[in-house]
Amino acid sequence: MSNSLVFKTRTCEIIIDYSKCIAPNCKFACVKADRLYGRNVLKIFNSKPALAVAPEKASKLCNECLACEIHCKWSGGEAIKINVPL
Ligand code: SF4
Ligand code: SF4
Repeated sequence: MSNSLVFKTRTCEIIIDYSKCIAPNCKFACVKADRLYGRNVLKIFNSKPALAVAPEKASKLCNECLACEIHCKWSGGEAIKINVPL
């Protein structure tokens, strides 16, 4: 079983590496940030962040705000990497 969640957005790829996820110590900063600045793409499932919608819907819903990655880092995690094509 894969230990990461990978999904596409319009132009990026978001990878959540569960082996680096420190939940609940981070207070689920990624999910909270997604609710504040993003589009409710993420939810808490089995004490970890997960997609709140089907992957095809997530790719259209995500506004690529990068808040989940930034807030994960600010909360002491290093679990989210957003690959932005340059
Ligand atoms: S980039 Fe923004 S909208 Fe997309 S999953 Fe992360 S917080 Fe949510
Ligand atoms: S903020 Fe980072 S460490 Fe915390 S639940 Fe989200 S991915 Fe895991």
